[in-house]
Amino acid sequence: MAKRKKLKPSWLDNLKISIKKALGMKIILCDSCKYDWRQACYQPARPNAVWCPDYSKRGS
Ligand code: SF4
Repeated sequence: MAKRKKLKPSWLDNLKISIKKALGMKIILCDSCKYDWRQACYQPARPNAVWCPDYSKRGS
């Protein structure tokens, strides 16, 4: 059975984002995502996504 894709961040995702933000860490995902291309990514949050179900680290 295929795993269902998350449509919105969980409370744990939101907590992680809040902690990173409070610590002054970089929270924008698109800068390090391998899909950060106009024709590769159709997420409306690009280029300032802080949570994304399609995120994949560039170079991995
Ligand atoms: S897939 Fe998500 S993280 Fe990657 S560029 Fe698109 S919006 Fe940003």
